[in-house]
Amino acid sequence: MSFFSQLGLRKVINASGKMTALGASAVSDEVADALKRAAQDYVDIDEMMEFAGSVIAEYTGAEDGCPTCGAAAGIAISTASVITGKNLTLIEKMPDSEGLSNEIIIQKGQQIHFGASIAQMVRIGGGKPVEVGNANKVEADHIEQAITEKTAALLYIKSHHAVQKGMQSLETMMKIAKEHQLPFIVDAAAEEDFQAYIRMGADIVIYSGGKALEGPTSGLICGKKKWMEACRMQYKGVGRPMKVGKEGVAGLIAALKQYPLKEDNGDEQIERMTKLADALADVKGLHCSIKQDEAGRAIYRAQIQVDPSKAGMTAAELLHRLESGNPAIFLRHHYVNVGILSVDPRPLLKGQEDIIASEIKRIVKEGQSS
Ligand SMILES: *Cc1c(COP(=O)(O)O)cnc(C)c1O
Repeated sequence: MSFFSQLGLRKVINASGKMTALGASAVSDEVADALKRAAQDYVDIDEMMEFAGSVIAEYTGAEDGCPTCGAAAGIAISTASVITGKNLTLIEKMPDSEGLSNEIIIQKGQQIHFGASIAQMVRIGGGKPVEVGNANKVEADHIEQAITEKTAALLYIKSHHAVQKGMQSLETMMKIAKEHQLPFIVDAAAEEDFQAYIRMGADIVIYSGGKALEGPTSGLICGKKKWMEACRMQYKGVGRPMKVGKEGVAGLIAALKQYPLKEDNGDEQIERMTKLADALADVKGLHCSIKQDEAGRAIYRAQIQVDPSKAGMTAAELLHRLESGNPAIFLRHHYVNVGILSVDPRPLLKGQEDIIASEIKRIVKEGQSS
C-alpha cells in the first residue's frame, strides 16, 4: 500500500509531468537513501552548505553554488544577494531595501505565474520588480531605458510559461547587463541543461531540484563566487524562513551525482505508450496515437483525441472523472479545449499505464451504456 494511501489520502497516478501540485518528482532509491541517512544524523550546516556549493559547481561548470528549498526561494535569495552583497547589516535588514539599488528588470512577457508570481518572489527578496515593454513585444530599448542607478540586476525567465515570441533573447538581455556592469540572473527552474547558461556567461542561474533533476523538494543557485557567497549568507536573513534542511541538501547532492548517468529511455516510453494506445483501440470515440514532445525533447506521450459525439463525453468531462476518482489520475491537459488529453510516461510508476487504460475504458463505457 502506498504511503499516502496509508494516511487515508487518495492514491495519485501522475501522468501529467513534474507538477509541484502533485508532489513534483518520485525520487530514485539512491536519492531516497541519501534523504534517510542524512535525516538520521548530524552535520555542521555551514560546512555542508559550502560543500554542496562545490558539488553544484562541479556539475554546472559554475564557480560556486548555493542549495535552496526550491527555485522560487532561489529567485528571492538571488535578488537579496544582488542588493546586499555580503554586508551583514543589510542582509539582516531585508526585505526592507529602502535607499538601496533594488530594482530588478524583467521583460513583461516573462512576468509569469508558475504556481506563484515571479514578481512576488522578487519582492520577498527585497527587490522591486520593474516590468519593461509590452506583454507580446519588448524592444532592447525598453530594457536599456529602464536601467538607472537604482537597478540591481536583470532577470531572464526561461520557461514554457513565458511568452515565446516578441521578447528580447537571453543573449541580448545579457549583453545589455554586461554593458552596464549589472549582474544577469536566469531563472531556468525546469530546464534540463544544467550548464548551458553558465557557459553562455550568466552570473547567477536558478534551478529547481524537483523538476528535471528528479531530486527531493529542493533547488539550486549556481554562478559567480561572490554572488554565491552572498546567496549562502542570506540564510542569516531573508533566507531563514525558506531554509533547506540537511535531508534536502543530501538528496540534492545525490540527484546531481546521478543526473549525468541518466540514460535516454525513449524506446521504453514508446513501448509503454503503445501498450496504452493498443488497450484503448477498441473504445468508441477515442483515437490514441504517440506524439513526441512539441519542443523536440526525448519525451513520447500518448495523445488521446476524444470525439464527444461518439464517446458520449467531452475530453474535459473525461479529465474531470479521472481526476476525481480513487486512484486520482492526472493527465496532461494543455489542449483539452480542442478535445486532446495526453499521458506523460516520465512520472508514471511501473505498470500504471495499465491502470490508466482500464480506468479510461471503464469511465467511457459506463457513460456510453447509461
Ligand atoms: C517551477 C518554477 C519555479 C518554482 O520552482 P520551485 O522549485 O517549485 O520553487 C520558478 N520559476 C519557474 C519558471 C518555474 O517553472
